[in-house]
Amino acid sequence: MSSTNGRVVVDPQLCEGHALCLESAPELFDLSDDDVATCIAQPTAEQWPLVHAAIDACPRGAISIVED
Ligand code: SF4
Repeated sequence: MSSTNGRVVVDPQLCEGHALCLESAPELFDLSDDDVATCIAQPTAEQWPLVHAAIDACPRGAISIVED
């Protein structure tokens, strides 16, 4: 998938806080105090490849792109 629009969301029920998404896209994801990742900024056009890298890296399939 190569979507370049939509909204990036992390499912807190699926996330186990491995932080692999932070390694792929540190500008876009952060871990909360309870070790659940959140998307802290929506990607610019140039950052979408990082989003897809984070989705591929996530072992829980917790990151998804929601069409508004
Ligand atoms: S890689 Fe996936 S499971 Fe790990 S912190 Fe990021 S969203 Fe959560």
